[in-house]
Amino acid sequence: MTETFQVGTACAAQGNVETGVLPIAIGMDAREVTIPVAVAHGIEPGPVLLVEGGLHGIEIATIEICRKLIQEKLVPSRLKGTVIVAPQLNPWAYMSSIRFTPQDCQDMNRVFPGTGGSTLSYQVARVVTRELLDRADYVIDCHSCNPPSLHFTIVGEEGTPDVRAKSIEMAQAFGYPVVNANTAYVGTLSGYCLAQGKPTITPEFVFSRRLDPVSIETGVAGVMNVLKLLGMMPGNIEEVEVPGAFDEIMTYVSVGATRGGLCFFSRQCGDRVRKGDQLAVLRDFWGNEMESIVAPHDGIVIAYPLQGNQAAGTGDKIAYIAY
Ligand SMILES: [Zn+2]
Repeated sequence: MTETFQVGTACAAQGNVETGVLPIAIGMDAREVTIPVAVAHGIEPGPVLLVEGGLHGIEIATIEICRKLIQEKLVPSRLKGTVIVAPQLNPWAYMSSIRFTPQDCQDMNRVFPGTGGSTLSYQVARVVTRELLDRADYVIDCHSCNPPSLHFTIVGEEGTPDVRAKSIEMAQAFGYPVVNANTAYVGTLSGYCLAQGKPTITPEFVFSRRLDPVSIETGVAGVMNVLKLLGMMPGNIEEVEVPGAFDEIMTYVSVGATRGGLCFFSRQCGDRVRKGDQLAVLRDFWGNEMESIVAPHDGIVIAYPLQGNQAAGTGDKIAYIAY
């Protein structure tokens, strides 16, 4: 075990917590752009857990969850191993209150592990990969779903069966309902980590753009549960209660629009539906039905993840179904 553990300017000695910044780019004002980081370095050897969020600029609950972890919960004198927190990985999207990086219109969660010679998002992903992901043994990749949504944790399709089994164990310890992804999007942070053999989970808090008290309280408890599962903190795993929770491990699928209009929900999040049941209806401005969106499987409605307005066009996501 090393005497100190350093990430960016945060250099923590054994038994200490330090905050600092990690330089990730130079802006067009010729100044350094940094992201906040903190390190809690334990007193005994153990794994390195990374808790990060904010790849999407509007998903801000992670920031407050990480503050509570660092200031109130992580006791390094009782910690085995090291916890790195990086609550806000995309400062440009955050300051613009949008999901994507405005400079290159990229989704930062589709560009991992990044490349050196490409646009800003790719170059930042490369720094994040080198300085954070490659140094971690386990990763909690925090996101916030657009409302209305349940709290749930996604486990990606990538990685060996062992890595995925450990990831599911982490997700169950975290305490939210667990859903497997049914599509491996190219370039996700979680996909990279899983493929590198690092068990990784993606909790989805509710809601984007809000410091939702339930998400913050249960998010902190969830991270502490994972630390206990991994033997990094003492204590028993505590039950986490969120509305609409279910025990079965399911798979989730995104149901999209082929036409467009205002989106009227036919169900509520947490409702169980049968294949073919109507989930939502799209109407034009005079109330004429444009499209009936139906469930592709028997399952549970876990989110209506519409971006911006309660309206959708061709190709937009309407609902997530766990089945
Ligand atoms: Zn996200």
